[in-house]
Amino acid sequence: MGGRKNKMLDVKIHDPYMNKDAYTDPTICPTCGLVYHDKMWHNKKELFDEIKKKGNYEQKDCPACRKIKDDYPLGVLILQGAIINNTQKVTEIKNLIRHETEKEANSNPLARIFKVEEFPDRIEIKTTTEGLAKRLGNAIQKAFQGDLELVFSESDKFLRVIWKKD
Ligand SMILES: [Zn+2]
Repeated sequence: MGGRKNKMLDVKIHDPYMNKDAYTDPTICPTCGLVYHDKMWHNKKELFDEIKKKGNYEQKDCPACRKIKDDYPLGVLILQGAIINNTQKVTEIKNLIRHETEKEANSNPLARIFKVEEFPDRIEIKTTTEGLAKRLGNAIQKAFQGDLELVFSESDKFLRVIWKKD
């Protein structure tokens, strides 16, 4: 593990997929249907339809779909402790995670969960933004207590959010 701990919370994770110059306006992501317009990614059906109809757009995967294809998370939420053997609690936690992810996606359509892996001693959830991992960790701690720790990876490439409860 290693890395720096809580005191460096203002560290900004470098997101190599957010180079604005890489996209022309408008662009449609062929994988998920997001639309790049006015320097932002939108999840709006009306905008998608309008741009499709005009016909003058680029097609290129959005940053979220590229991270998912490359398996490049900016956040990793790790659930640990005896609680992960409690099936009912794990179901409750997963429902909370789904709910919080939907809320986050309303404000940032590039925030997604793209992999959930279950190990004997932990559950790992990879997210496309560090903000989503942080939000999930905070929500879980608020609802279930336990210990929350944020650890930046050695090169600040991603944020580990570790939640533990026995
Ligand atoms: Zn996409």
